[in-house]
Amino acid sequence: MIVTFFGSPGSGKGTQAELAAEALGLAHVSTGKHFRREIQRNSALGTEIRDVIEAGKLVTDEIVNELVFQLIDEIPGVLLDGFPRNVFQAGSLDEFLLRKKRKLDGAVFLDVPEAEAVGRLAGRRHCTSCGAHAFFSDDTCNFCGAALVRRTDDDPGVIHRRFEEYRLQTAPLEAFYAGRLVRVDGIGAVKQVHSRVLKAMEPWL
Ligand code: AMP
Repeated sequence: MIVTFFGSPGSGKGTQAELAAEALGLAHVSTGKHFRREIQRNSALGTEIRDVIEAGKLVTDEIVNELVFQLIDEIPGVLLDGFPRNVFQAGSLDEFLLRKKRKLDGAVFLDVPEAEAVGRLAGRRHCTSCGAHAFFSDDTCNFCGAALVRRTDDDPGVIHRRFEEYRLQTAPLEAFYAGRLVRVDGIGAVKQVHSRVLKAMEPWL
């Protein structure tokens, strides 16, 4: 099975994608997570994309497409998180899968109103040690006790830019995936949304 998850920044896409992948035994391929790891490692790719990500802009289609196609080639069960991010990437993914005699089973759109998502991002912290990515109320990680930091791209100024990119580039995916898209209400507790996601994905199992 190959499915993709998309939603605005702060929609809970990363958390829900990770939970769904684990529940369904799929490989969780998160482009954002991959890029943040490369930046932390100071690799050549990390150095190339650091400024783009920290400004809340999108990495070029060439870099992302090549990365994803390499990562998913030969893996039968994949849950894509954060890719495709625009219609060009979505078309390239369809073409790539067709060449491999595979197809995208469907897209999950995690629907959260912008005001709610902006509020969530303002309170979001990220663990410097285990990488947990959640909404914590204190300064230490609930999972491993290490220090929490705000993602550079969760800075209030950058959030604004990420929403602009989302509206312009990613929101049109709703129309692109018409007929193979399920919309999931992203408001509520993590567990509650997770159950909705699994239910929505049932037809693809
Ligand atoms: P995310 O963790 O999905 O919010 O991604 C964090 C950042 O990584 C985004 O704001 C982009 O700068 C970059 N990124 C992740 N996925 C993509 C993609 N498919 N296309 C372009 N840029 C991406």
